[in-house]
Amino acid sequence: MTRAFVALGGNLGDTRAALRKALDALDALPHTRLVAHSRFYRTPPWGLREQPPFLNAVAALETALGPHALLDALLGIERAAGRVRDGERWGPRTLDLDLLHVDGVVLEDQRLTLPHPRIAERAFVLLPLAELAPDLELPGQGRVEALLAAVDHAGCVVEP
Ligand code: ATP
Ligand code: CA
Ligand code: CA
Repeated sequence: MTRAFVALGGNLGDTRAALRKALDALDALPHTRLVAHSRFYRTPPWGLREQPPFLNAVAALETALGPHALLDALLGIERAAGRVRDGERWGPRTLDLDLLHVDGVVLEDQRLTLPHPRIAERAFVLLPLAELAPDLELPGQGRVEALLAAVDHAGCVVEP
């Protein structure tokens, strides 16, 4: 079994329900166990600013699935949540599941880059990830706690 971290996000519809359901779906994946998840954060939109705020969280998994099988599983959970890819990057979505990191894995191909290349610039990922793994060293980017200290996370608040 290998440890993997998944970022969850959404800003369309009942996002709290979508994230809860996604956590259950992750736990229900074959050869996979949900080990922990962060609190949920309300965060400002990133990339495209004219859209509703996001709800974000991070999950830690133990899985026997390989990285590509895990990515396929995440895309399947997104589809089940009604995610439509209309070509607009970083636009509004019901559910986005990004594979952040898999222990011992560094790779880049047409479908998958690990670690996820934009973690270091995203407070909405670093805040919840730091709850679960502050000491995690992301190959090529750095230690989670240090990365978090270098970003502005003032606009991100824990949901009650
Ligand atoms: P970003 O990756 O900047 O967060 P996004 O999540 O909005 O943007 P998507 O449209 O959800 O981007 O995904 C586009 C493609 O990114 C996916 O189809 C997938 O093949 C690819 N991809 C590459 N690396 C990863 C990764 N680590 N996690 C998830 N998807 C990835
Ligand atoms: Ca994303
Ligand atoms: Ca994505």
